[in-house]
Amino acid sequence: MIERTLVLLKPDAVQRALVGEIVSRFERTGFKVVALKLCYASKETAGQHYADDQAWLKSVGEKTKKSYEAKGISVKDDALTIGNRIRQQLMDFISMSPIVAVVLEGHDVIGKVRIMCGDTAPNKSAPGTIRGDFAFDSYGLADTSGRPIQNLIHASDSVESAKREIAIWFKESEIHPYQRVDEALLYRKM
Ligand code: UDP
Ligand code: MG
Repeated sequence: MIERTLVLLKPDAVQRALVGEIVSRFERTGFKVVALKLCYASKETAGQHYADDQAWLKSVGEKTKKSYEAKGISVKDDALTIGNRIRQQLMDFISMSPIVAVVLEGHDVIGKVRIMCGDTAPNKSAPGTIRGDFAFDSYGLADTSGRPIQNLIHASDSVESAKREIAIWFKESEIHPYQRVDEALLYRKM
């Protein structure tokens, strides 16, 4: 299915001059850039993007909690409390310096881009993935440093979240459909 996904190159990706490298990976895979801009995220936009959604906040908090528990360290805060703390940190982080927002289009682009990003924690991300190749941060290092994990990139995780997130970052008039010359091959019918 042809889908669209939202990618954000977070402040760490822009500051480390990895924009070209990361966008290039998606282009070479066959995915089409249909929107792209360098921008500052306001606190308000950051808050919309990292929505105050209980299920997501719990899932975020669970990740840090599980990483401590795997090391035999018990955590007194519940997942929702940790998730809320991380959400505040994410809102500060994403609005601290420019980011690059991108909409990619292509066959099953949402799932494939997530695979290309790697695990949330770069220290657990496989080589060959964006987070695995260009970062080493971990839940523990981020948590004890009072900041979210610096993992370079955000990518939508479902059709519904892609739709919601694209609408936060782009007006319809900023999204530009066009034909890539290699599409005749990539989507060839026999
Ligand atoms: N995050 C974090 N600690 C956690 C879970 C998440 O710092 O325990 C940060 C991290 O930067 C991540 C973002 O919150 O990219 C959003 O979390 P999510 O679970 O959606 O991970 P992603 O979809 O980015 O892999
Ligand atoms: Mg996510």
